[in-house]
Amino acid sequence: ATVTENLHSALHARHQAVMPDWLATYYSEPIEITHGQGRHVWDAEGNRYLDFFGGILTTMTAHALPEVTAAITEQAGKILHSSTLYLSRQTVDLAERIARLSGIPDARVFFTTSGTEANDTALLLATAYRGSNQVLALRNSYHGRSFTSIGITGNSAWSPTSLSPLQTLYVHGGVRSRGPYAHLDDAAFTAACVEDLEDILGQANGSVAALIAEPIQGVGGFTSGPDGLLAAFKRVLDRHGILWITDEVQTGWGRTGDHFWGWQAHDQAGPPDILTFAKGIGNGMSMGGVVARAEVMNCLTANSISTFGGSPITTAGALANLTYLVDHDLQGNARRVGGLLKSRLEAISAALPIVREVRGRGLMLGLELVEPDTGEPSAQAASLVLEAAREYGLLIGKGGRAGNALRIAPPLTLSVAEAEEGASALADALRQTQDKLAGGRS
Ligand code: PMP
Repeated sequence: ATVTENLHSALHARHQAVMPDWLATYYSEPIEITHGQGRHVWDAEGNRYLDFFGGILTTMTAHALPEVTAAITEQAGKILHSSTLYLSRQTVDLAERIARLSGIPDARVFFTTSGTEANDTALLLATAYRGSNQVLALRNSYHGRSFTSIGITGNSAWSPTSLSPLQTLYVHGGVRSRGPYAHLDDAAFTAACVEDLEDILGQANGSVAALIAEPIQGVGGFTSGPDGLLAAFKRVLDRHGILWITDEVQTGWGRTGDHFWGWQAHDQAGPPDILTFAKGIGNGMSMGGVVARAEVMNCLTANSISTFGGSPITTAGALANLTYLVDHDLQGNARRVGGLLKSRLEAISAALPIVREVRGRGLMLGLELVEPDTGEPSAQAASLVLEAAREYGLLIGKGGRAGNALRIAPPLTLSVAEAEEGASALADALRQTQDKLAGGRS
């Protein structure tokens, strides 16, 4: 082993000795990422990878985007502090732009440091506004890691405790291709999910505060119901005065190509009451937030949620990132390059029985992997493809209720050539895995 390899395995051992056992890393030999540029990152051993996961979608536009670096550096040279007690020009600028982009009328914006905290704030608002701790969530959902957000996370792999300050009622609708309604066409699927929602509301004990939903389930494996489903839900919610919270932590900022927000695939019933965002807006920096109608946002009487309600440095970086994204029409790029990538992946997968489905939209694409013989979900296949892709210089993500989905979410500046490069690397990794699984049986 080389000196760098030895140093790297020492770092892994130190990580394991000092960090919690439940803090999982990807890969049997985790990667130490040292720097990035555009759509590529490098590890401590000098290997270059094409990044098809954007650091779990946290790098939205590009690694080391000069505009973002300049904004952060300039602010770092002035002052680093965070307090909601003083004004910061870029924080107000960013809030104004997000309020306009949100589609929510009379919108107010509050910044947080993470998606988890954004969802906690949304739940605090909804439960306070409605005077109820009953919340509707989709099965297979993921909304964060705090005590409250675990309580609305339907994906059991991510729920280490069944205790919760919320009373959560789970409804169908987050997964189109599996579950009891999978055999129905879109209209019948939607009708069945609405009936399920009505049934659950019929059994609810008094008023319900809100429905929280990811327009495309992220950790759940990039799955969703048909377009318009959430609008059909909203018509029911409106009759009961229940709020609609859209969790746009993964689907926001144009990633889905067709829309700026995921909820816009369901906009026939109007905008949501509350929108949460995080991840990509900071292009790697820790940042999230909540947008809500003033009436809902202002129902709290306490001052702020935490000290870090949009620090000058994160909002300076996020503002530069958002400006770049809008000025360069990265939503359009996500639609065009994502569309090409999806067709490439479909063509590759047609000849590979381990791929049951290619799904998603824009630059948010998922592959569901199964045992070639039985069609049963295969988490082993997903792990093998992840490892093999790394060998071919490609980073991707995993997910799904059964751990058998691959997630592809590159920075939104991805070029056609890079999409081709990633698709061939993934094709090699998929073929290698299929051969390995077939060989293991014979
Ligand atoms: N909501 C969704 C849809 C997410 O995917 C995540 C993170 N994976 C969160 C909330 C939580 O965000 P964070 O990790 O920034 O707390």
